Amino acid sequence: MQGKTRPEKREIPQCAGCNQHILDKFILKVLDRHWHSSCLKCADCHMQLAERCFSRAGSVYCKEDFFK
Ligand SMILES: [Zn+2]
Ligand SMILES: [Zn+2]
Repeated sequence: MQGKTRPEKREIPQCAGCNQHILDKFILKVLDRHWHSSCLKCADCHMQLAERCFSRAGSVYCKEDFFK
């Protein structure tokens, strides 16, 4: 692919929720930040948002809290 043009340095993404490195297979990318699937939670009801989430003003919400 594009291996030759990429820098060699492997960066481990940092979770925006807990500030730990993310070593999971699945890394969520929301609001241009990386998240553990368990760290991405609704700002209102704290439900985990592994599948779908909605963002507003830098916070993420579940569908119900976003549209209420
Ligand atoms: Zn995390
Ligand atoms: Zn919610």
